[in-house]
Amino acid sequence: MINKARYIKTLQELIRIPSLSGNEDTIGNFIFEDLEAYGFAPEKDEVGNIYLELGKGRRSLMLNAHMDTVPPEGYKGDPYSGLIKSNKIIGLGSSDCKAGVAAMMELVKSITGFDGKLILAFTVSEESVLKGAKYTKGSMYAAERYKADACIVLEPTMYDGIPAISGGCRGRMILELKVRGKSTHSSRPHTGKNAITESVKLIDHLKEHDLMTGHYFGEELPETLSIVGISAGAKATNIIPGECDVVVDYRTLPGRTEVVNKIKKAIEDSGVKTEIGIPYFSPGYFLPEDTPTLKMLEESVRNSFRRKPRLMIALGRADSEYFYRNGTPAIVYGPGENLQCHKPGEYALISGAIKCTKSIGRFIQEYLSKK
Ligand SMILES: [Zn+2]
Repeated sequence: MINKARYIKTLQELIRIPSLSGNEDTIGNFIFEDLEAYGFAPEKDEVGNIYLELGKGRRSLMLNAHMDTVPPEGYKGDPYSGLIKSNKIIGLGSSDCKAGVAAMMELVKSITGFDGKLILAFTVSEESVLKGAKYTKGSMYAAERYKADACIVLEPTMYDGIPAISGGCRGRMILELKVRGKSTHSSRPHTGKNAITESVKLIDHLKEHDLMTGHYFGEELPETLSIVGISAGAKATNIIPGECDVVVDYRTLPGRTEVVNKIKKAIEDSGVKTEIGIPYFSPGYFLPEDTPTLKMLEESVRNSFRRKPRLMIALGRADSEYFYRNGTPAIVYGPGENLQCHKPGEYALISGAIKCTKSIGRFIQEYLSKK
């Protein structure tokens, strides 16, 4: 049985420990010592992730939540208050992702009678990339260390207490385009080629790029392409710039690796002389709708909330992709409020968080049952 008072107290304590990315030692020690005090034997790895492995058996299930938060931005009061106002528990990271961390800590204390292996992975550095680290993300490290038959990433998927389950995420590509023109004196522009006007041509062409729309879980999912940076010239006002840098953020349908060649061809077809750099491409992923784990979780959620959860693909890229890529099918489902992420005055809704934690408990027992 989930102990509501203990869950709330743990979540308040977690909120009161600042844990910006790269500074997760204190919160990691808190989780480690708390689990130890309950008789468990947690482990800590070299990047600061905390693990707990319980049980043996036919099946294995991993739960993951990150311990870090973004920096406080726009807060009027104490970002680390953990104050409760009616159904809200307030503070930086309350929803993203400490409600999930607290749920994992509560679940191992309260559920019994399962017959498989349950692995908890509390990870570092989800919100930012640690410079110079071999493993830039703690979850990437956890995904390589443990393979499981299934994984739930407890990122916030509640919408005003109404549950959603994410069975994948869109991909993301960053394009760094260097548009080449020909520099000349601005009194004789006809003797050169203005890289800024060339870039505008290229951008206009990319606007025409045929973006795909997919259908997942009965919902429409579009690709999106945005120009997020442009810089050139103005070192002197009398020079026609010969180079212009354009940065594009391209969100792709999950699992479509062919977009790399497609976008390269679109840029070539523009006729604008461009050097193409792709410093980042992560293709995203999705689980087929009839994935048994997804069905089983959906049923557990329906039992706890007395309503059918929305199934969806996350618009943003999610760390669950690391688990998926390493052979562990990952679902994102967690007790925080999705729309509260990175907002001043962030809160989690207690009633929704408790129901969500209960539904994960049901799922663990079902998934790791003796049957
Ligand atoms: Zn998060």
